[in-house]
Amino acid sequence: MSRSLLLAAGRVIDPSTGTDEVRDVLVEDGRITAVARGITGPDGIPRVSAEGLVVAPGLIDVHVHLREPGAEHKETIRSGARAAAAGGFTTVWAMPNTDPPLDDPAAVGFVREEARRWARKGEGGARVSPVAAASLRLAGEQMTEIGGLVEAGAVAVTDDGHPIHDPALMRRLLEYTQSFGIPVLQHAEDMALSAGGVMNEGAVATALGLRGIPNASEATVVARDIYLAELTGGHLHVQHVSTREAVDLIRLARERGVRVSGEATPHHLTLTEAAVRGYRTEAKMNPPLRSEADRRAVRQGVIDGVIECIATDHAPHHYEEKEREFDDAPFGIVGLETALAVCIGELVVPGDLTLSGLIERMSTAPARTMGIAGGTLRPGSAADIVVFDPDTAWTVDSASFRSRSRNTPFDGWRVKGLVRRTIVGGDTRYERP
Ligand SMILES: [Zn+2]
Repeated sequence: MSRSLLLAAGRVIDPSTGTDEVRDVLVEDGRITAVARGITGPDGIPRVSAEGLVVAPGLIDVHVHLREPGAEHKETIRSGARAAAAGGFTTVWAMPNTDPPLDDPAAVGFVREEARRWARKGEGGARVSPVAAASLRLAGEQMTEIGGLVEAGAVAVTDDGHPIHDPALMRRLLEYTQSFGIPVLQHAEDMALSAGGVMNEGAVATALGLRGIPNASEATVVARDIYLAELTGGHLHVQHVSTREAVDLIRLARERGVRVSGEATPHHLTLTEAAVRGYRTEAKMNPPLRSEADRRAVRQGVIDGVIECIATDHAPHHYEEKEREFDDAPFGIVGLETALAVCIGELVVPGDLTLSGLIERMSTAPARTMGIAGGTLRPGSAADIVVFDPDTAWTVDSASFRSRSRNTPFDGWRVKGLVRRTIVGGDTRYERP
């Protein structure tokens, strides 16, 4: 009876059904078959005590960079999927800015199959869904063949790492993706306004003598894209929202019924530009960490549900690259193995979100927003489940990461909430030793 087990007496938190009660969860042949009290279960089914632990829908991260093909020294599909499972994630969306980029069906199919291949070998992690390039070679000029990419397994399109700059291309993408029911994910940035900036524009950048990226670099593109989503009826998803202006724009657009969604990263919810002081390259990311007013606004957006999803923008980089001078170091940080605990510590402990509210934004809402399976423990669903201890505090130690990269600004942070088991399709892909 593989892919079957009984998770007994855990605190079942399922935002999709409004459940937050002690229950048993029965998994048979990879599917959830019952959520109830006092399940004795078919004979011979392994019984796992979840007493004192939270049992929730597996987390879904719609924004990760797995670096394969092309930069396997930073991360591979295998290491990234396993890092994801260790962080409680059961599904991750892999961005297409690999080398070569995921702009043809073979490349998209490779990412999906590679994750499945490792899973068959017993070395799998989270499910990996490829996101295809929106433009050929991510060059921002010619639209990719979306039909073929979707057939090969693509769940969305984006040029992430770069914005989709040409408004006519963006319009066509928002029109064309509708027949496939997929969103266009936008890294909203006006490169001319960013002008080679390396951190947030403001007093800290001035003090450090670094070139700044203004809020308007993000906000002007979000505003434009909202009008294009309104014009076309397409689904625009704004990645890594970092500014108060973008939160306001998305709020107003949603109020008038535009199909726009957004995501915020744990780092934009918890850190500000001050983290860059000392030229700390582990605080260099794009979009940059912003002002305290921006951090508060993005946080409020997540609390209100205007920004429905929390996504990590997991961006592995090699130690030596991050050791360069601030101007030359690459943008980005890893996030899969710290996201849940950072968010519990920073959002749930202070009372801004309930645990259920957090799981909603890290699982149920991403599934609903993107129209994909998951985010629920309803009987009949695939058994994608995270079991975690919500109360144990621990100290982040990047040396223990399963990711191949260590670039995190959270090293040494005291955080709360420890993933104990991650189950994908009834198969335990991570178990805390
Ligand atoms: Zn991006």
